Amino acid sequence: MNKFAIAIHGGAGTILRSSMTPEKEIEYKLGLKNAIMDGDNILAKGGNALDAVETAIRNLEDNPLFNAGRGAVFTSKGKNEMDSSIMEGSTLMAGAVTGINNIKNPITLARTVMQKSEHVFLSGLGAMEFAEKMKLEFAPDEYFFVQHRYDQLLQAKKSDTVILDHTVTNATSKKGTVGCVALDVHGNLAAGTSTGGMTNKKFGRVGDSPMIGAGTYANNNTCAVSCTGHGEYFIRSVVAYDISCLMEYKGLSLKEACDIVVHKKLVAIGGEGGLIALDAKGNIELPFNSEGMYRAMKKSNGNLYIGIYKD
Ligand code: ASP
Repeated sequence: MNKFAIAIHGGAGTILRSSMTPEKEIEYKLGLKNAIMDGDNILAKGGNALDAVETAIRNLEDNPLFNAGRGAVFTSKGKNEMDSSIMEGSTLMAGAVTGINNIKNPITLARTVMQKSEHVFLSGLGAMEFAEKMKLEFAPDEYFFVQHRYDQLLQAKKSDTVILDHTVTNATSKKGTVGCVALDVHGNLAAGTSTGGMTNKKFGRVGDSPMIGAGTYANNNTCAVSCTGHGEYFIRSVVAYDISCLMEYKGLSLKEACDIVVHKKLVAIGGEGGLIALDAKGNIELPFNSEGMYRAMKKSNGNLYIGIYKD
């Protein structure tokens, strides 16, 4: 059988071993394991990368531990406003949504935009109207309400700051954006990302996660990438596409491209975060320039790896 591979992330930031409880650490690891194994099962049966990406991300969206779907952070108006995107490396087809509420699984809406609409990127009420038409699952506000997320909002409001999920100092409340990259036995790559964005965000702020090229990118000729971190910097650096370009135009390896973008270019402008990347040969990179990143990877011929801190 040809090789397949998958990697996921659950957000990057100031995640310190010293401020994590053993119970929380187990919960996070279990959450990551369940999600990646869901995707891996699909790939092991010869399923396609896009299905694996959607399935793993749906699992993470359903887990209130992570800042996506259920567990999404609150905007300044006390709403959960979610962003998501997905891309297929074989066709360069992509779908994305931003500023949506009450959609149970934003990644499925992004995929539906890609496959059932003539567009790539839908926003707000229009995206939700499309979701209704496509009969996607909605969930009430209560489903998305997570007490500590609300506490984060009250905290952010006190100082009138917009808080990146991972910049809070208490590790037990650090939850992150989620993403997945996969390579299937047919040699196809796919990438997806889903998030609630930043706590206390205002004015319809949109981060990198739903932006094709910034937070998500996939191309069978190069790689699949999903990012997490301070979105404004990732947008300005067009991070995901930059990695693909360095491979395509400069002939760099996945590792060389990731090192330059995450540890040099982003650092130079103060952009904190990381990403997961996978190339068409099955090489995986999980670089981050923050204290930690919730991450996991599995290759067809290898063991499951799960990491949280800088090892
Ligand atoms: N990149 C996301 C955003 O800026 C946040 C994150 O990755 O946690 O919306």
